[in-house]
Amino acid sequence: MKEKITVIIAAAGSGERAKRSKNKILEDVGGVSVIRKTFDAFYSSKLINEYIVAAKQEDAEEIKSLLPPFVKIVNGGKTRTESVKNALALTTGDIVLIHDGARPFVPEQVIRDCIDSAIKYGSGVAAIPSRDTVAEKSENAPRYLGKKDLLLIQTPQAFIAEEIKRAYNVAGEKTFNDDGEVYLNCFGKLNFVGGDAKNVKLTYPEDFNTAKETRFGTGFDCHRLVENRKLILGGVEIPFNKGLLGHSDADVLTHAIMDAILSACCLRDIGFWFPDTDEKYKGANSMKLLAEVLRMIHEKGFTVDSVSAVIMAEKPKLLKHIPTITENLATALNISPDKVGITATTLEGLGFVGREEGICVHANAVVVKE
Ligand code: MG
Repeated sequence: MKEKITVIIAAAGSGERAKRSKNKILEDVGGVSVIRKTFDAFYSSKLINEYIVAAKQEDAEEIKSLLPPFVKIVNGGKTRTESVKNALALTTGDIVLIHDGARPFVPEQVIRDCIDSAIKYGSGVAAIPSRDTVAEKSENAPRYLGKKDLLLIQTPQAFIAEEIKRAYNVAGEKTFNDDGEVYLNCFGKLNFVGGDAKNVKLTYPEDFNTAKETRFGTGFDCHRLVENRKLILGGVEIPFNKGLLGHSDADVLTHAIMDAILSACCLRDIGFWFPDTDEKYKGANSMKLLAEVLRMIHEKGFTVDSVSAVIMAEKPKLLKHIPTITENLATALNISPDKVGITATTLEGLGFVGREEGICVHANAVVVKE
């Protein structure tokens, strides 16, 4: 692309509808601020030559600190129209994209299609067909607009820079819904390109709840098999002539799962929280320790999404016990059994597991932070 491309990110909103104490674009979305994530969507596309962010004066410093120094910050006006006008005055690109700061999930393809459309037709506005029927409220009877041929308008909205500047001059003090309408008012035409259902504008409190941070953790444990001990796996007693040796009930499966969960949350490990030197944990029921681990991670805002574990044991055969173990762990973890994947394997007679001296478990956990 030989054209110089500018993106204007409108970030001067107040976040009132999102019921946030600060501007919603400064909120966290999966570990980064909304504004940074929005910027990154454009930056990683490598299609943009110039970045301008319109920000409220009170947010300008914070926004500046969240973005690279080459991003120009301009004073956002009282209205979105005013903000865009201020930003357009600084634009040096041939094509300008205007985008809502609160749409961090914009796919690269949509950005590309908007630019291509603006080069070809003068404008390219992201829009998706309405899935729902639309009606217009009225003091008397509401008016049904249907859904056929109705479009939900998104951003980015791309234009030939000189044309959108002219359109804003023509618009004067009149108010418009968005930049596309400003362009339409001036030129009597507007080209739409396919948007994306994922390209949502974070507006209401529940929109932020969908922006979860997912984390992955791994855990491993091993216990010696001895006589005169119970064999407990995932809180289920398995009939066998030997059991696992340990300070607690030596539930090797639950131990590995607890470590995977703690690791995903960066909260150390079970040896740190439940030391085997502490008399309190002698003979402890590991399912109770698991409940304690869940309490700890909930306190930090995490919940378990799913777990997966492989039990390495030469004997006993675990095949018929796996469904019971799975059910028991799912109940304890407060997740559906189809989110608990337990497998078992022998080690083909190799090593200490193969010699039936012990049982090992490798576990993984996925946790989400609300
Ligand atoms: Mg252990």
